[in-house]
Amino acid sequence: MATKYIFVTGGVTSSLGKGIIAASLARLLKARGYSVTNQKLDPYINIDPGTLNPYEHGECYVTEDGAETDLDLGHYERFTGVPTSQANNVTTGRIYQNVIDKERRGDYLGSTVQVIPHITNEIKDRITALGNTGNYEFVITEIGGTVGDIESFPFVEAVRQLKYALGKNCIVVHLTYIPYLAAAGELKTKPTQHSVKALQQQGVQPDIIVCRTEKPLTRSVKEKIGLFCNMESDCVIEDGDVSSIYEVPIKMKEEKLDLQCLRKLEVPVKNEIDLTKWEAFLYKLKNPVKEVRVGLVGKYVELQDAYKSISEAFVHAGAELNTKVKVDYIHSEYLDENNIDEKLSGLSGILVAPGFGTRGIEGKILAVKYARENKIPFFGICLGMQCAVVEFARNVLGYKDAHSVEIAPSTTHPVINMMEEQKNIANMGGTMRLGAYPCRLNEGTNAYAAYGKVDISERHRHRYEFNSAYLEEYKKAGMIPSGVNPDTSLVEIVEIPDHPYFVGAQFHPEYKSTAMNPHPLFVSFVNAALNYRNNK
Ligand code: GLN
Repeated sequence: MATKYIFVTGGVTSSLGKGIIAASLARLLKARGYSVTNQKLDPYINIDPGTLNPYEHGECYVTEDGAETDLDLGHYERFTGVPTSQANNVTTGRIYQNVIDKERRGDYLGSTVQVIPHITNEIKDRITALGNTGNYEFVITEIGGTVGDIESFPFVEAVRQLKYALGKNCIVVHLTYIPYLAAAGELKTKPTQHSVKALQQQGVQPDIIVCRTEKPLTRSVKEKIGLFCNMESDCVIEDGDVSSIYEVPIKMKEEKLDLQCLRKLEVPVKNEIDLTKWEAFLYKLKNPVKEVRVGLVGKYVELQDAYKSISEAFVHAGAELNTKVKVDYIHSEYLDENNIDEKLSGLSGILVAPGFGTRGIEGKILAVKYARENKIPFFGICLGMQCAVVEFARNVLGYKDAHSVEIAPSTTHPVINMMEEQKNIANMGGTMRLGAYPCRLNEGTNAYAAYGKVDISERHRHRYEFNSAYLEEYKKAGMIPSGVNPDTSLVEIVEIPDHPYFVGAQFHPEYKSTAMNPHPLFVSFVNAALNYRNNK
């Protein structure tokens, strides 16, 4: 079968959940036995979101091949279990950079380089490149932003051109919002009509409209939208409020989003849909028999999207253990000796989050100390692990000024040091230790018990590392390396055996946690939190 291309655009307003719809559609097609990949096109000019402050666009998600990407790729992987890569996230910045590089090389042979065709060709190449791998029957490409935005014009134009060129092998699914006016007691379709008009003005006729709504769409509302937007009312799909994003695939199945896409693309329906495992996961998620409270200590807690993969990993681990994991988001900047007891004493587990820079660092170190001394289960991720190493140096080894050289370049005890290969790098973008690296676990540790195997691979995103010059001192004083990179001997996981559960990972386990495969370290941490609560 020729690769089928499905574009997901958005209208009326942002934050309607295009990423979740794209991921849910992929899940459904996969559950029918098709091979699918999700792609995201982002209209901003950053080459990738690696240099973006999390307050801007939430977390930066990292793929196996070390691409720093939009957080929607996290949704795609969590829903489908299909790994994404650099090719799955393309920004305007990257498109322009490529075109400009080609111009400088002389590839355009003297022609005037223009948005059409040069930029649009580059965009189309990035889309069809996924189909041309031969690995996927369906490529689902989400266009970031809202239709009508200046920034997304070239992307929508590329969609128009591809739709014309690919004919029956391409459809557009447009996500809109149907507001309910309480005063009128009515659902209003006008914003949807306008957003479809905006799309049509750019030459694109949507094939299916998915309507975010707080009230059920009546048949007459669907018919009205169909009439104004040139489509059968069956192609108007209701996307109502649900208590969990993981319910969306089930809702979309009920609304036959996948079947309408297959019909429009003239693809014979291959298999009955099999969502048994998904439904079992959802059942456990919605019917927890236990509850546990953990704290996430970080400096971006005002914006929970900044820790998206971590909060989702807790959802997956909770479902696995029939447990509702309640996460308290605790601002590290405002954590001090005077309020720490009040803020952390009610928790059964403390996670210290990844991060960069000085702000809130002492609060994180204090949270580690609190967890270590009070024997509360502790899980440190990346910067959180580095804080655990610093805290141990200061309060157990007695090196009062110990620090990471990221924060204190002239510390006399640089227990977290800059990696050798990082020392001569000047550019900030895409230059960290990124992507999947192998790690070998030591038997008899919490990490080994969690994974149940020796050789693992996890994704990284950092510039600094455990300073191995101090390793022997740490081991003697009771903090051990439970996972080490087999090629470079870098310490990747530290633990304190004389503690109910104290694990710090230099990598980011959260990126690999999916609905169908909860991450072992999150499961073991939540389990430790449950034990702590039971023994209290
Ligand atoms: N800032 C630290 C480093 O670069 C940790 C990074 C992180 O937590 N992702 O090593």
